[in-house]
Amino acid sequence: MAKIGINIATGSLQQEEMIVGIDLGTTNSLVAIIHPGSKNAVVLKEHNSSSLVPSVIHFEDRGSVIVGDAAKDFLITAPQQTIFSAKRLMGKSYNDIKDHAAFFSYRIIDDNTDSLVKVQVGDKFYSPIELSSFILKELKQRAEHILKTPVNKAVITVPAYFNDAQRQATRDAGKLAGIDVLRIINEPTAASLAYGIGLDKNESKLIAVYDLGGGTFDISILRIAGGVFEVLSTNGDTYLGGDDLDNAVVQYWIEQSGLTHQDLAANRQLAQALRLKAEEAKKQLSSKELFEGELNGDKLSLSKQKFEELIRAFVDKTITCCKNALKDAGLKTSDIETVVMVGGSTRVPLVKNSVSEFFGRPVNDSVNPDEVVALGAAIQADILAGNNKELLLLDITPLSLGIETAGGLMDVLIPRNAKIPSKAARQYTTQVDGQPGMRISVFQGERDLVKDNRKLAAFNLTGIPGMPAGLPKVEVGFLINADGILTVSAKELRSGVEQSIEVKPQYGLTDEMVESMLMDSITHAKDDMKARALGEARTEGEQLLKTTERFLQKNAAELEKDELINTANAMQALQLALTMEDKDLIHAKIEALNEVSRPYAERLMDNAIAGAMKGKTI
Ligand code: AMP
Repeated sequence: MAKIGINIATGSLQQEEMIVGIDLGTTNSLVAIIHPGSKNAVVLKEHNSSSLVPSVIHFEDRGSVIVGDAAKDFLITAPQQTIFSAKRLMGKSYNDIKDHAAFFSYRIIDDNTDSLVKVQVGDKFYSPIELSSFILKELKQRAEHILKTPVNKAVITVPAYFNDAQRQATRDAGKLAGIDVLRIINEPTAASLAYGIGLDKNESKLIAVYDLGGGTFDISILRIAGGVFEVLSTNGDTYLGGDDLDNAVVQYWIEQSGLTHQDLAANRQLAQALRLKAEEAKKQLSSKELFEGELNGDKLSLSKQKFEELIRAFVDKTITCCKNALKDAGLKTSDIETVVMVGGSTRVPLVKNSVSEFFGRPVNDSVNPDEVVALGAAIQADILAGNNKELLLLDITPLSLGIETAGGLMDVLIPRNAKIPSKAARQYTTQVDGQPGMRISVFQGERDLVKDNRKLAAFNLTGIPGMPAGLPKVEVGFLINADGILTVSAKELRSGVEQSIEVKPQYGLTDEMVESMLMDSITHAKDDMKARALGEARTEGEQLLKTTERFLQKNAAELEKDELINTANAMQALQLALTMEDKDLIHAKIEALNEVSRPYAERLMDNAIAGAMKGKTI
């Protein structure tokens, strides 16, 4: 029997299942719903308080966790136990963020590896997924308190620039918070929905969504036609936002006061206090000409003119991104009919004016820029609940997706700016006789060499029956679902041996890992992951040694003396690497042996068979 709840605030009856829209922001997060009475999107807030929940988490000495405004107070008094901007760490390794490490006043584990970053608070370690889950848990609790009904399902928004790993991380954070994440949608898509653009089926227009929040900047060009939202291009900078404007002010005040960076490094409390003052100044200068304040008895002031001088380079950078987005979409500024402003930082007059000047029209900022994304997420939630069946959403991939082929080259299967959901498949073949397996490494990025792109995942297709090199036909399939999450499969077509494998991004988490994190066994999960990676590398190395041996038994007479010696050496090196606990070393030796054998394997490949093969060599 379905339970019915009564909403004390609105007096209306509600179904047990309420799907909410969540804007999980870098600086602030909030929840919105479609009001059951008015059917309008509204943000949730307690009486007399703000809808915004600062995305700040404080860990108390006695183990409890505080999120939101109350946690923000501890940014100054307990910076090492108070985490802000956790969204910037989502799906990131230390190597990804080390250039920005100074930005964080809490402790990020510096292990110089490509595994997920961890934040250390006291003697505990937290992943960005767990940190985000604390914020989501708080939002869920608040929503349940206000609505007087359980909240278990949500649509969560992410910046358009979030890659697959970051989307997966957001989904996992929802799962950890006990929320069933029905859909991950891009923030600009949500924002345009909140403006009601496209709800009329006869409407057809091109719009730009300019989103300058606390930590990220996105510009998206959307085409809306026949009730369909299509993202034509996206551009932006995941390290540009209101925080940078605050920092520019902090830098200026440091110079003015004669303080040094060493002074501030030694006094983190002072650094944080300055940061908060700078934000206060910035906000005031959105409606005043002069800010005057004080810190520890010292006077601090900033004129609007000086502020604009300090931030002009940042604003110009966003305009360059707008230019690039238009170029990618093949459009001119005059083609854009509406410019939508999103994010608290678009309240800065210089930002508004510069964007308006660039597009040659007044900007559209009638919806509160802090709430617009959450409101749109609520509208999307309503569509998913089946209340608005006519609306369809199309998004695009912000970066190309492909696999590694011979020579470390990137072979793109789904190009950047492809519409999603999207699907692609391509055939590949083996390079060694009797090769029983194939390593599929999935990358995201625009560069030709995979080493310059981002590795999302890798897996082995095993169990290919013995066939001469070039004969197997391995079809690699890419599928991006409506959330923008990628699944890669591989299947050997010729033998009928079917083996499709679901790939989760390397930086994302498997269901099992999320569970083990719930049980607070992070260290073990990490060890397991290491052991699994080492096991996989060993299997691959052993297989390669076997195939190479078999190949030599058959073909030794056809090889040059040098080739035989080099092969023997490379095999020996791999054999030795297999006895060690270092997966990277094993992969390096596998690659080295492949390098040695590739030229003669190709030479000896049966031309008749090779000629019949259209597939490429992995
Ligand atoms: P969001 O990520 O959209 O919540 O944006 C938060 C950012 O907007 C923070 O950097 C805030 O400092 C900034 N912000 C909020 N209100 C104002 C304002 N009145 N003027 C300038 N910036 C603001």
